Amino acid sequence: MTVNKLETEETNGSESFRDSLGIVEKSGKRKWVYPKEPKGRYTNARNIFSGILLLILFGTPFITKDGHPFMLFDIINRKFILFGFPFGPHDFYLLGLTMITTIVFIFLFTAVFGRLFCGWVCPQTVFMESVFRKIDYWIEGDHRNQRRLNDSSWNGEKILKKGFKYIIYFSISFLVANMLLAWIIGVEALEKIVVAPVSEHTSGFIAITLFTGLFYFIFIWFREQACILVCPYGRLQGVLLDPNSIVIAYDYLRGEPKGKIKRNEERTLGDCIDCNECVVVCPTGIDIRNGTQLECVNCTACIDACDNVMDKIQKPRGLIRYVSQNGIKEKTRKIFTPRVIGYTIVQILLLSLLTFFLTTRSEIDVTILRTPGMFFQEQPNDKVSNLYDMKVLNKTFEQQNIEVKLLNREGDIKILGDNKSINPQEAALTKMFISFDKKSITTMNTPLVIGVYSGGIEIQRITTSFLGPVEKKDQDEKHHTDDNEDHK
Ligand code: SF4
Ligand code: SF4
Repeated sequence: MTVNKLETEETNGSESFRDSLGIVEKSGKRKWVYPKEPKGRYTNARNIFSGILLLILFGTPFITKDGHPFMLFDIINRKFILFGFPFGPHDFYLLGLTMITTIVFIFLFTAVFGRLFCGWVCPQTVFMESVFRKIDYWIEGDHRNQRRLNDSSWNGEKILKKGFKYIIYFSISFLVANMLLAWIIGVEALEKIVVAPVSEHTSGFIAITLFTGLFYFIFIWFREQACILVCPYGRLQGVLLDPNSIVIAYDYLRGEPKGKIKRNEERTLGDCIDCNECVVVCPTGIDIRNGTQLECVNCTACIDACDNVMDKIQKPRGLIRYVSQNGIKEKTRKIFTPRVIGYTIVQILLLSLLTFFLTTRSEIDVTILRTPGMFFQEQPNDKVSNLYDMKVLNKTFEQQNIEVKLLNREGDIKILGDNKSINPQEAALTKMFISFDKKSITTMNTPLVIGVYSGGIEIQRITTSFLGPVEKKDQDEKHHTDDNEDHK
């Protein structure tokens, strides 16, 4: 499967490897991959990095801020908490903008660094290569023993080893399912599902069972096929990469023509001794020497394998390394290509917009508008009133008790009903009368400034208007009155 059409010299004159998948036999049957355990500096670094990522993945749901999860992705109820800040359905525009920014970032990142994400950060690779594959080596032995065990009939050894492995796989899948649910519904809600009888949390129980089954299926059987056949990011590599993208590549100029080392013979071939070590460690069953391929998840196993070989034959490391195609061919390192510059500009614009929206986002939104279609009401005691609609959106985790005061003149405010107290993450619509002595209203349109308070703290200042009795001199103005008051 082609990522970039490589030139004939890079693929050693043959493109036939693109006609088949490394994990499928000619008959169409799946070819099970038994990669040799990689060893080397990149593998060590990835093990440490994976450990840190797993700590973050399993630990973050337990972190709280002011009694609430630090991170929460409650997709079902459209409630999100990012770094302790709540976001709800009212913040949909922020979610949309964040998604667009993330997609552009992925484009930009991939154009420069290729599939670095796949090899180092993607949970599929982290769990497959740094958790489950290690269990295979621990229980079943190296790649040769794994193959032998699979090919053997069901004897005592096989039943014992496979049974033990399945139990561990299932237990970890169950843990991963719980972890995923903790990110979605929070640790407290998850605890209730785990502790309470199933009858009280049927949907939660079904979710855990389904997720456990899904992860178990992926890691015990589906494995590398998730990256090669399903992952949309993997499928997009063909359009995201270009010859300047940094990928894991074989330096064909240095390695070719490849050939075995022959004793007592002066070597005239390239540095590749055709030992196949880079192929046997590959978890997706490809030969990186054929060129950049869609199946490559940038796991670095072939770099370590080849570096170990180079050490043994006393040649410089890096026959397989992080490098762009142009880096091999022209020995250049060009990061800021026109495409990358274009992505960067769009990314900066999107990030600026997102930062602006995030920093100007208020925690409580209040709008006060004169009730449409209403003019003014004559009240007893020579008073005159206007009816207003007040809408309050409480985006915080706390109950908000809303009070309003007139700031620019004396008058009365009467809130109707009992809607002054707004529950967390909820909106409420309240009606209120504002009234003045009739004689104090001298014009048809009197500007008002209303202060909105919660817990005694001013949270917003709103400008609106008050319609008064129309006197002769105001008749003409009446027609020009703007019924849609501005509000802040
Ligand atoms: S080619 Fe190398 S980096 Fe790519 S998947 Fe195979 S071993 Fe990993
Ligand atoms: S490990 Fe290195 S030397 Fe061996 S076949 Fe692969 S590229 Fe050639």
